[in-house]
Amino acid sequence: MTRRFAVERFLLLVLCMTLCTAQFVLPVRAYASEKKSSEDSSDDDDDDDDDDDDSTSSDIDELKKQIEESKAAKQKANETKASLASGMASVQQIIGSLQTEKNNVVTYVATLDAAMEQIQDDLNEINMAISENEAQIEEAEEAIEKAQAALDEAEAVRLAQYEAIKDQIHFMYTTEKNTIFSLIFSSKGIADLLNRTQYISRIMDYDQRKLAEYAKSVEAAEEAKKVLEESKAKLDEKQRELEEKQAEQKEKEDDMSALISAKEAEIGQYNAEIGSKEAQVAEYKKMIAEQDAEIAAIEAALRRQQAALAEANRRVYGGGQFVWPAPKYTRISDDYGMRMHPTLGVQMMHNGVDMAAPSGSPILAAADGQVIAASYSSSMGNYAMIDHGSDLITIYMHASAINVSVGQEVSAGDRIGSVGSTGRSTGPHLHFGVRKDGNYVNPWNYLK
Ligand SMILES: [Zn+2]
Repeated sequence: MTRRFAVERFLLLVLCMTLCTAQFVLPVRAYASEKKSSEDSSDDDDDDDDDDDDSTSSDIDELKKQIEESKAAKQKANETKASLASGMASVQQIIGSLQTEKNNVVTYVATLDAAMEQIQDDLNEINMAISENEAQIEEAEEAIEKAQAALDEAEAVRLAQYEAIKDQIHFMYTTEKNTIFSLIFSSKGIADLLNRTQYISRIMDYDQRKLAEYAKSVEAAEEAKKVLEESKAKLDEKQRELEEKQAEQKEKEDDMSALISAKEAEIGQYNAEIGSKEAQVAEYKKMIAEQDAEIAAIEAALRRQQAALAEANRRVYGGGQFVWPAPKYTRISDDYGMRMHPTLGVQMMHNGVDMAAPSGSPILAAADGQVIAASYSSSMGNYAMIDHGSDLITIYMHASAINVSVGQEVSAGDRIGSVGSTGRSTGPHLHFGVRKDGNYVNPWNYLK
C-alpha cells in the first residue's frame, strides 16, 4: 500500500462518515422540527387536546368544511375589498378632474384680476383728470367772478358819470331853457340822450368823451368775462366727457367685479364638491380598513382551523409488530450495532439491520404510514422513509428502485420498492433502519 493510497482512503472514510451520518439524518430532523412546530401552534386550542388521540373522520370532515368556508369567506372579503378599492379609485379620479377644472377657473380668475387692475388703473387716471379739471373749473369760476366784479365796477363808474352829466345838464338848463331840459329828461337812454344833446354838444364834449370811454371799459369788461365764460364752458364740456368715461369705467369695474364674484363662487362650489368627495374617499378608506381587519380575522381563523386539522390528522403509531420488510428473506448479513465497516475497514456503528435478499425482490412497508422521503444519495442509494406517527420512522436503503413518492399514504405490507445494491453497498440487500424520537433505535424492538 503506497502512502498516496492511504491518504485517499482516509479522505474517503471522512467523506463517507459525513455522508452516512449527516446526510440522511438531516431530512428526518427537518421533518421532525416542522411537525414539532405544528404541534406547538395547535397547543393553544385546549379544547382539541382531549380529542387528539381519538379524532374521528367526521371531526376532520367538519374541519375541512370550516376551512373551505373560511377560504370562501376570505375570497369574498377580498372581492369586497377590491370593489371598495375600485370605488375609491373612481372617486379619486373624479377629485382629480374637479381639481383640474377648479385650477382652470383659478387661472381664469387670475387673468380677470389682472384685467380688473387695469380697469381700476384707468379709472384712477380718469378720476385724477376729473380732479384736475375741477380745479381748473374752480379757477375759471374765480376769474369769472373777478371779471364780473370788474364789469360791475365799470358799469357803476359809467352810471355815476351818467348821473353827473344829468345833474350838470339839469343845472344848466333849469334856468335857461325849459324845453331843452325836458328834452334831455325825456330821453330813453344814453344813446338817445347823446343824439338829443347835439345842441349842447359843445358844452358836453368832454362828458361825451368820458361816457364813451366808460362804455368802452364796460365793453372790455364784458368781453373779458365772455372769454372766461367760454373757456369755462369748454372745461364744463370736458368735465361731462370725463364723467361719461368715468361712468363707463365704473360699469366695466362693476361687470368685472360681478364676473370675478361668479367665478369665485364657482371655485367655492368646486371646493365643496372636492370636500364631499374627499369625505367619500375617507369613508372608503375606513371601509377598506374594516375589510382588512375582517380578512385578517378570517386568516387567523383559517390558520387555527388548519392547525386543528393538522392536529386531527396527526398520525399516531398504533403499536404492534412490524411487517418483515424483505419477505421470505430472513438472513441477516449485518446486524444493528458496532461492527467492522464492510468497505471502510473500521469499527463503526451500524444503525440498521441488513437483510440479504436478491436484487429485484420486493421491499414492503413495515407499518401504516406516510412516505416522507423517496430519493437517492451516494451513500444510501435509492432510499425511502415512512413516517408512522408518534415520531416513529422507518428507513429503507440501497434499493434498485423505489416506487412510492413523498406524501403518499401506505399500509403495512404495501410494496414500496425493490431490493438492490445502490449507494455504498457490497451486494444486494435491504438496509432497514428505525428512528424513534429523532434517534436510531434497534429495529428488532419492532420486528419480533
Ligand atoms: Zn446496512
